[in-house]
Amino acid sequence: MIKFNQYLKDKYGGRIQKISIDAGFTCPNRDGNVAFGGCTFCNNTSFSPYAMTRQTVEEQIEKSIDFYSKRFKKIKGYIAYFQAFSNTYAPVEKLKEIYDKAMEYPEIIGMSIGTRPDVVPEPVLDLIATYTVEKPEIWLEYGLQTANIKTLRNINRGHGVSEFVDAVLRTKKRPGIKVCAHMIVGLPGDEYEDYIETAKLIAALPIDGIKIHPLHVVKHTVMAKQYANGEFGVLELEEYAKIVADILEVLPEDIIVQRLTGEATEEELIAPEWCSSKRKMDVLKAIDEAVRRKQEEKNLLRI
Ligand code: SF4
Repeated sequence: MIKFNQYLKDKYGGRIQKISIDAGFTCPNRDGNVAFGGCTFCNNTSFSPYAMTRQTVEEQIEKSIDFYSKRFKKIKGYIAYFQAFSNTYAPVEKLKEIYDKAMEYPEIIGMSIGTRPDVVPEPVLDLIATYTVEKPEIWLEYGLQTANIKTLRNINRGHGVSEFVDAVLRTKKRPGIKVCAHMIVGLPGDEYEDYIETAKLIAALPIDGIKIHPLHVVKHTVMAKQYANGEFGVLELEEYAKIVADILEVLPEDIIVQRLTGEATEEELIAPEWCSSKRKMDVLKAIDEAVRRKQEEKNLLRI
């Protein structure tokens, strides 16, 4: 596995900083086009520091560049991260207008566009591919979450596994676009085999990067109510770390790992407590430890 920061550092000779942008998109799983209510875990206001503000894309970019350039002296560039909601869910002309704003900054070396696999029609992919001519890091991030169709239905995801496979294959017909898949470990109804199956599916597809998140229940979501009713439980940190170590073993060695955890603020988080932003380093340490133990066990078997 290659860590994303390391990949960027090796390629650009220094730190590349992601800038989160809330461009005011919505989601077809919330506005009734696919479904109402959204995924049961989703409280999208927690995605972006700019959510619910009326700052323009330019204001968000300039504020972030100002902030990070003071904090880290040796920044080599930035990636505009369109993070909140479904960032390809608009007419193509509108998307061009929004993406162009970010791509005009010379310090910005690319963008990461978070979206659903069912909202990337061909004209949108063609548009995104045009940016690969001048900017080297153009990523599309697709949420799969799990390869278990029953779980996808239960969490009101509004798409299946086939839409994900279709989106990845169509995207990779444009070789300049890199694809990152998101998966969640711990969704209600999923078991160990589902995590491994999801990882195997990701491994079998032409996918460049992955983000693995632990399920964490946050306030103001359907899942918060289900959790309060005792309908499901959450993973312990050690269990999560061990599963992630097993997933990493299934993935190709050259996959770029963008994330191995996910967290919420203490105000938003309901459970598990180890998904609080304050404990991020504990989670990464536990994963490192689980990977190391796994390696040791393997070495012992070889003796
Ligand atoms: S697709 Fe994304 S933005 Fe839409 S409801 Fe689900 S998690 Fe939220």
